[in-house]
Amino acid sequence: MTYSVASRLLEWYDQHGRKELPWHQDRTPYRVWVSEIMLQQTQVATVIPYYQAFMARFPDVKSLAEAPVDDVLQHWSGLGYYARARNLQKAAKAVTNDHGGEFPDTQDELEALPGIGRSTAAAILAQARGIRAAILDGNVKRVLARYHAVHGWPGKTAVLNELWDHAERHTPDARVRDYTQAIMDLGALVCTRRKPDCGHCPLSNNCTAHAEGLTAALPEPKPKKALPEKETWLLMIEDDEGNLLMERRPPSGIWGGLWSLPEMDTAITLDELPEIAERQLGIACEDAQPLSGFRHTFSHYHLHIHPVRLRHAGTSSVMDDDNLAWHPRADAPSLGVPSPIRKLLTRPEQPSLI
Ligand code: SF4
Repeated sequence: MTYSVASRLLEWYDQHGRKELPWHQDRTPYRVWVSEIMLQQTQVATVIPYYQAFMARFPDVKSLAEAPVDDVLQHWSGLGYYARARNLQKAAKAVTNDHGGEFPDTQDELEALPGIGRSTAAAILAQARGIRAAILDGNVKRVLARYHAVHGWPGKTAVLNELWDHAERHTPDARVRDYTQAIMDLGALVCTRRKPDCGHCPLSNNCTAHAEGLTAALPEPKPKKALPEKETWLLMIEDDEGNLLMERRPPSGIWGGLWSLPEMDTAITLDELPEIAERQLGIACEDAQPLSGFRHTFSHYHLHIHPVRLRHAGTSSVMDDDNLAWHPRADAPSLGVPSPIRKLLTRPEQPSLI
């Protein structure tokens, strides 16, 4: 069985697998690692231009370790899940400081680096070094859940453990680099989330989900619960010269470390706003005008965003606080800002209807 799945996948890969993606060239641990982290929650087509720009700016682990964090976040801006970028740099520093600039070559040492889990560590070992190690990313989970008809949400420990057992058993000793790529490609190209192409799948003869008509039902989705709703007021404080007050977010939490707009998360009236903003930020403000709001959904809540434009009453000067700065309005979207903030700053301004 083990040999059979691997050999069928390898045969299929030789004819149909993807071999031209940017991270398939020059497979160093560094290049494989960055691609794996970028691909964790993002589609291949989206990742490609980000990966190329990232590699051009940070061609090796040393350049990433030594870069200003704002520069790293700016190259990540638009990919979301910014903890990935911050962990990427922390791990680059650990590799540089603790491992002499070379990625370790054991599963345990790799998993000890920030942001590197079991599957990512295995991908680095298999893809960059040809060491036998089983991977289990989203694509592989889908293939194995269907092939073996594993019921239950793969986020549950018991289900995940069962999938890991299958992944370990199928991983071959020989050609592990190609096998790893093959099973990921099968998930991405054939055993897709919707409408898997079982007619062209090398595993279809023994696939339980295919035989039992369960492909649409597996893998089972996360049990749904309603997301909580939260609100925030974003302050677009502008001075007479077209500068916008930007605030750097705390290092942890949503949008951690990115530049954003000053924010208030308690309901206040427009009349109260200038005084409260002045108290909170030390900036004299006037003329609060609501702009049309919008909703942004995070994985664990919906955020209703209410932008309010304010005029700075006074002359803008250099701020005492490192986390507050005036930026020309036109330049603000190109700082490392989260996507919803960029969307807000680049849209034509619309007054609120209320
Ligand atoms: S036969 Fe269909 S469901 Fe089974 S692994 Fe192949 S594509 Fe996926």
